[in-house]
Amino acid sequence: MALKLEPGARLVVATHNPGKARELAEILDNRFELVTAGELGLAEPDETETTFVGNALLKARAAADASGFVALADDSGLSVTALEGQPGIYSARWAGPGKDFAVAMRKVEARLEEAGAEDFSAWFTCALAVAWPNGPAVVVEGRVDGTLSFPPRGDRGFGYDPIFTPEGHDRTFGEMAPEEKDGMSHRARAFAKLKAALL
Ligand code: IMP
Repeated sequence: MALKLEPGARLVVATHNPGKARELAEILDNRFELVTAGELGLAEPDETETTFVGNALLKARAAADASGFVALADDSGLSVTALEGQPGIYSARWAGPGKDFAVAMRKVEARLEEAGAEDFSAWFTCALAVAWPNGPAVVVEGRVDGTLSFPPRGDRGFGYDPIFTPEGHDRTFGEMAPEEKDGMSHRARAFAKLKAALL
């Protein structure tokens, strides 16, 4: 079987977040008929793997096998060098049940202080997986490197954006316009690889 996606094909996005599905549709130039796992009433699997790639594959595989359609899933997060890669796959969980990223960013700052860290380097990772029902899968990873700084700056992004300044720049992702961030982000890099592989 050729691992190519035909325009107009139905693609299940393994998310229960309609906003995320819309964003993905735009990134994929609205080439596919996107439906979310939530719309199909599919259960969300536990993210039990230990890597971004593992969790993206697990989510895509579960949605493809349960729905019978090709499925796309992502997993992303912030990794801090001095914290041995934490929060990593736990990036969303560090924000707690209230999904409060001010809390998560303070936690990163506190952990760096506790560790007496001098190295403030960090990177964002985005893994994207596409799985065919009971068939093969493709997975790619994009990464952007940068430096953390405190206090957080900017209110234009989301998550950890206000503490992350990408390499070669002096403003945080939180201070950048979405188009500027999209030109260099881990997500954009992962999608470029996925498009090259599948379209
Ligand atoms: P996921 O939705 O389970 O993949 O969780 C990803 C988490 O990583 C998000 O909740 C954010 O906290 C963080 N994250 C991923 N990408 C970004 C980004 O581009 N900017 C800021 N935070 C991000």
